[in-house]
Amino acid sequence: MRKIEDIMAVVESLAPPQLAADWDNPGLLLGDMTADCRRVMVALDLTCPVLEQAAAHDCQLILTHHPFIFTGQKRVLAGGYEGDLIMALARQGIAAAAAHTNWDNAQDGINWALAETLGLQNITPILDPNYTATEILLLAGQLPKPLLGQALLNLVCQKLDLPVVRAAGCQPNKIYHKLAVVGGAGLDLWPQAQAAGCDALLSADGKHHIGLQAAHNGFTVIDGTHFATEIIGIKRLGAKLAKALPDLEVLYAEVGDSWQFYSCS
Ligand SMILES: [Zn+2]
Repeated sequence: MRKIEDIMAVVESLAPPQLAADWDNPGLLLGDMTADCRRVMVALDLTCPVLEQAAAHDCQLILTHHPFIFTGQKRVLAGGYEGDLIMALARQGIAAAAAHTNWDNAQDGINWALAETLGLQNITPILDPNYTATEILLLAGQLPKPLLGQALLNLVCQKLDLPVVRAAGCQPNKIYHKLAVVGGAGLDLWPQAQAAGCDALLSADGKHHIGLQAAHNGFTVIDGTHFATEIIGIKRLGAKLAKALPDLEVLYAEVGDSWQFYSCS
């Protein structure tokens, strides 16, 4: 029988804690390192539906990308996101852990999963002169073949399983060769992507002024949604964990993005 600490040792060998940003909070967030663990549920975020699924499947640990406890908690009260989850986890004896920026920055981590899903070739990190190990890892690669703007957006939709995608500065008649990617909220890194010779950056959580500035500078930024750009990477961590510990059962939460697209008439 595995212990939670055995699972955390594998997670931290794949996503070394020293790669995490200073402000981050990865690792075991709630639970007992010495408790037995037969089954793990993997999800992007810890939410009530994820907890219900973990309990229904008798999981002893929930491993997410985003830490559900991110800031200091002076009180644990019912009626709030953290308080409700902390009490429900403790009541049901389910532990919670996260691999966040340490998995973003890891070799084979979130950003590599995104780059490979897009079919990029000759994938290399874009390192700026002030690069540190804890900086978000921006990756660049050649598209499988040169694509017109619309075809690039089609590729993103197809590979990330999105019904639509929003972009700023996309030029329908331009031929795109090189794409930069970073999972989650990284569109503000577009100047580094442009300086590295990329034609576009795929990330998420695009702000209005980022789109304005990128388009003004002849650069394309694509918002592939935070969920879709990262879910593939946390599933990859689950698959690596299952491979490393064959006697451990790894399940994936069946939840979608909390942000949905709605057709309106
Ligand atoms: Zn994220």
